[in-house]
Amino acid sequence: MNGWAAEAELVVVGTGVAGLTAAVEAARLGVRVVVVTKDAADAGSTRWAQGGVAVVVGDVAGDSVAAHVADTLTAGGGLCDAAATAAILRDGPPAVSRLRAHGAIFDADGARLARTREGGHSAFRVIHAGGDATGAEIERALVRAAAGLPLLTGHVAVDLLRDRGRVVGLAVLDAEGRPGVLHAQAVLLATGGYGQLYASTTNPATATGDGVALALRAGAAAADLEFVQFHPTVLYTGPTTGRRPLVTEAVRGEGAVLLDRAGRRFLTGVHPLADLAPRDVVAAAITRRMAETATDCVYLDARALDGFPARFPTVYAACRAAGIDPVRDPIPVTPAAHYACGGVVTDLDGRTGVPGLYAAGEVARTGLHGANRLASNSLLEGLVLGERVARAVAVELRGDGGSTWIAESSADVAGEPAPAVPIAPRALVQRAMTAAAGIGRDAAGLAGASDVVDAATVLGVPVDRAGVEDAALTLLAQAVLAAAGTRTESRGCHVRTDFPGRDDLWQRASNEVRLDGTGRPVVAARARVGAA
Ligand SMILES: Cc1cc2nc3c(=O)[nH]c(=O)nc-3n(C[C@H](O)[C@H](O)[C@H](O)COP(=O)(O)OP(=O)(O)OC[C@H]3O[C@@H](n4cnc5c(N)ncnc54)[C@H](O)[C@@H]3O)c2cc1C
Repeated sequence: MNGWAAEAELVVVGTGVAGLTAAVEAARLGVRVVVVTKDAADAGSTRWAQGGVAVVVGDVAGDSVAAHVADTLTAGGGLCDAAATAAILRDGPPAVSRLRAHGAIFDADGARLARTREGGHSAFRVIHAGGDATGAEIERALVRAAAGLPLLTGHVAVDLLRDRGRVVGLAVLDAEGRPGVLHAQAVLLATGGYGQLYASTTNPATATGDGVALALRAGAAAADLEFVQFHPTVLYTGPTTGRRPLVTEAVRGEGAVLLDRAGRRFLTGVHPLADLAPRDVVAAAITRRMAETATDCVYLDARALDGFPARFPTVYAACRAAGIDPVRDPIPVTPAAHYACGGVVTDLDGRTGVPGLYAAGEVARTGLHGANRLASNSLLEGLVLGERVARAVAVELRGDGGSTWIAESSADVAGEPAPAVPIAPRALVQRAMTAAAGIGRDAAGLAGASDVVDAATVLGVPVDRAGVEDAALTLLAQAVLAAAGTRTESRGCHVRTDFPGRDDLWQRASNEVRLDGTGRPVVAARARVGAA
C-alpha cells in the first residue's frame, strides 16, 4: 500500500485536555503543529470527566495551595515528588484562567465559581461545569480553540521514528489504513491512560496505553505503573464488561454515604474522613465488604441530597437508563479501573529521557500522583503540563534550548517497516489482569497472570488500530505485573494480600520500568522520590 509523508515542528498525539492544551499554546507561540488522534477528537477520557478540576483560585476562606499540596502528598502515600507537586499545583490557577479565556464555562455560585469536595480534599476546591459534565465542557472549549490547526482524526500512532538516539517523527496508520510518516523535531505523547487493561473500567475504548508502549520501545522509562487507581463507585448493572458509567465522588462530597447489602454504613471507623477518605481507602473497603457479604456491589445512598437530577444530570441519566432512581433508591456501585497514576517518566516540562520525545497528561508520570491520585488533580495536570511542554518545545526550536535536531535525518527514516512486537489476545489479557492485578494482589496470582499472558503472546506487525492497541495492552500487562510483583508491600492503590503492611524502609521508592534487550519490560531501577 502506498505510504505518505508530511512534516511539522511538533506532532501532538492525542486530543484530550493535555494534547489540545499543548497544541493551542504551541500554535500561539508560533510553532508549526500537527495533531493526530486515533478516533474522533472528543473520544478520549477527558470528555467523560465528571467531578471537576481541583484548583485553589484564592476565594475560599481557609484554603491555600499549600493545603492542596498537603492533601495531594497525603493521598499519594509517600511516593509523590513534593517539589513537582508544589510546582504543578502552583501553576494551576493561571492555567485554569487561560482555559476560561478559551471559552470554558464553569458553574457559578453567585459571582464566584461554585465548588464541590471530593475524597481526600480538606476543602471545597473542585470547580465543575454542567453539574457533573466538566470534561465535556473542557473538551468542547479546547476543540473550538484548536479549530484552525491541522487535526487528523482516525490516525493511529504506530511507532516513533528515531535517528541517532533522538525522536524525529511518528509513523501512523491513517483513517484508510495507509501507512504515513510525520517528520518532526518533537513529538508529544498525550495518549491518556490504560484502563482498558481491565475487563471493567470507567475509561473509553481509546485508553489502551499506546503512549507508554511507544515510549518504552523508544528507550524511555516508565514508573509507578503498578498504581492503577480503581474508582470506588461505578454504577453496577450486573456482570458486564467494558466501559461502565461513573458515579462521581462529588455525590459523596455533597453528603451521600456508602451502605452494605444490609443497609449498614461501613466506612465510619476505617478512616477519619469516613466516606470521603481517599479513593484507595474507599475502594479497598468496598472490596473487603463485598467479599465479607458475598455480593457484587454495595450501595450509595444519595436520597438525602437536594436537587440530585439538576446537580448530577450525567449520573442521574445513567441511573435512569439502568432502571434506578437515585432520588428514591440507593445506587448499586462497585469499584472499576479508572486512572493510571504512573506512566512515562518526565520532568516538569514533559521531557522524557529520549531527546525530542515529550509526554503529558495521564500517559505521563511527573510525580504528582505518587501511589494514589488525589481526585480531580488529573485534568489540572493536563492543563499545566500541556502548556509547559508547548513552551519548552518553542524554546528548543528557536535555539535557546540548544536543539540538537538533525534536519537531514528525516529522509533516512521515511518508509522503514514497522517492527514486529509481542501481541496477546485482548480479552485474555483483560481477564488475566482483572483476576490477578486488581484490588488485592499476591505473588502467585501475579506470576500466574504473567505466565498466561506470555503463553498467549506471538510476534506480529500491527496493521490496524486494533493491532496497535493489543500490542500496547500486552506490553502494559507485562509491565504492570512486573512492577506489582516487585513491590512487596501495600501502598496507595497497590494492595498486596500477601504483604498487607506498608514498608517505608525500602519500598518508599518508585519502580522504574524499561525494556530489556529482548524487548520485555522489567523493573530496571528503584528511584527514591522527593516526597514529604
Ligand atoms: C469517567 C471518568 C471521569 C473522570 N473524572 C475526572 C474528574 O472529575 N477530574 C479529573 O481531574 N479527572 C477525571 N478523570 C480523569 C481525566 O479525565 C483523565 O485523566 C484526563 O482527561 C486524561 O487526559 P489526557 O489528555 O491525558 O488523555 P485523554 O483525554 O484520554 O485523551 C487521549 C487521546 O489520545 C488519543 N490516542 C490514544 N492512543 C493513540 C494512538 N496510538 N494514536 C493516536 N491517538 C491516540 C485518544 O484518541 C485521545 O484523543 C476522569 C476519567 C474518567 C474516565
